Amino acid sequence: MSVDATRLLERIGGRIGPQHVLADPADMAGYLTESRGLYQGTALAVVRPADTGEVAFTVRECARAGVAVVAQGGNTGLVGAGVPFGGVVLSTARLDRIREIDPVNVTMTAEAGCILQNLRAAPAAHDLLFPLWLPSEGSCRLGGNLATNAGGANVLRYGNTRDLVLGLEVVLADGRVWNGLTGLRKDNSGYDLKNLFVGSEGTLGIITAAVLKLVPRPKATATAFIGCASARRTLDLFQRLRQSDDDTLTAFELMPAFALAMVLKHGQGTVRPLAGEHQSYALIELSSPDPEADLAGRLEAVLGAALEEGLIADATIAASEAQNQALWRLRETLSEVQGLEGGSIKHDVSVPVSRVADFIEAAEAACIAAMPGIRPCSFGHVGDGNIHYNLSQPVGMDKAAFLSRWETFNRITHDIVAAMNGSISAEHGIGLIKRDELLRYKDPVALDLMRTLKRALDPQNILNPGKVIAVADDAPAALPVAKSA
Ligand SMILES: Cc1cc2nc3c(=O)[nH]c(=O)nc-3n(C[C@H](O)[C@H](O)[C@H](O)COP(=O)(O)OP(=O)(O)OC[C@H]3O[C@@H](n4cnc5c(N)ncnc54)[C@H](O)[C@@H]3O)c2cc1C
Repeated sequence: MSVDATRLLERIGGRIGPQHVLADPADMAGYLTESRGLYQGTALAVVRPADTGEVAFTVRECARAGVAVVAQGGNTGLVGAGVPFGGVVLSTARLDRIREIDPVNVTMTAEAGCILQNLRAAPAAHDLLFPLWLPSEGSCRLGGNLATNAGGANVLRYGNTRDLVLGLEVVLADGRVWNGLTGLRKDNSGYDLKNLFVGSEGTLGIITAAVLKLVPRPKATATAFIGCASARRTLDLFQRLRQSDDDTLTAFELMPAFALAMVLKHGQGTVRPLAGEHQSYALIELSSPDPEADLAGRLEAVLGAALEEGLIADATIAASEAQNQALWRLRETLSEVQGLEGGSIKHDVSVPVSRVADFIEAAEAACIAAMPGIRPCSFGHVGDGNIHYNLSQPVGMDKAAFLSRWETFNRITHDIVAAMNGSISAEHGIGLIKRDELLRYKDPVALDLMRTLKRALDPQNILNPGKVIAVADDAPAALPVAKSA
């Protein structure tokens, strides 16, 4: 480490405590690797400030020294955005206070390091809920959720993170603090600055706190699992539920036969939900703050009619909390079991809901034609047009040889997405893994505006450099250095 770097870390340690400046490789290891092992990073140190003042001090000192700062929450991101390539990792783990719950304004002010699961639970005493839900809720942190504009299973009803935030507190690239912690639902006093930072993946500022919208806590829930002849029919059922039960429909998760087979084969404690086998499945949830709402009755009526008409082939409705959890476990296990079937080339895309079935049919046919034996797994939050379009390697194929075709399948998949006016990133962000794809598919004027904003807010290019949009020639390579997915 250079003398200058040592002095910088000493100055930061002098303010936040030397025990919160980790420079030992063993202590830093967990912060330097992408959650699926796609990227291996490096850093001078990991710093763990405890409050906004300490974050501002750290960023100011790094700016003076021209050292990069990479914000990190739970490091559960899936696009390599939180991996440092030099500089300092700023972990938000110690900014974990809930500053206020205002049950009348129906808002919660929380710091960026709060774990999502805790944020969901905290307003229960007021019969309220922070409704963002991701399978990574036990590890991901609010700042990461905001910086990625995370989505998840309940976007259908409550929107994505962007829709759930009213105000932000942000440390800027020069160390100044922007206090935008307003709980206002109407505020037309100039540009909407908070929306610049939501989804910016740590490239424009370090979010330290946010005012979040809450919703009435659901007290009645009903969950069903259905089997269908095709994804198209599953989507038809979704439309029907949208018509009949839009006000209580909180999740509609698609799973193809291959996904269920993987979950039943590899997932601990998973149980086959339906007697027969079908091409396509969906997990459906209705919920309501009204404890008396007969949601199981609603599901019985809609699914019964769909069965009679032959739209769906089979269905089960959870009769207890244990059954409800068992059905959700099928969906939650899916992310972790895919790696057990060998290499997996992943895409997180969105198309208009009306094109989801078209996308799945076209993309699966094109990828199978390009590589017979490839196993598509098109799953996810299709109710909001988001498809996790993952491709498992053919059985018996060499994993590295399969993963070396990543770009081929990117091209096939993303060209189809583009032709349907979709997005190459629905909810995971751009980070590193899609940075070069963005150049290919995003409107050139939009790219130009993004570069202009980046240069204006971070003229030294010290905030998460090289991610989302590169503005310097020395940006890290976008392709994974260790493709082990
Ligand atoms: C099993 C699993 C399931 C998942 N399911 C979903 C899903 O359903 N929907 C979904 O959207 N995502 C999902 N994800 C992805 C991930 O959990 C989300 O992107 C999450 O929002 C990341 O939060 P984090 O705290 O882990 O952020 P990190 O991974 O630490 O960081 C992500 C990005 O945010 C930046 N960042 C972090 N904190 C701050 C801050 N305070 N200020 C500025 N920038 C910051 C980082 O620099 C980085 O660019 C899943 C991940 C896993 C492992």
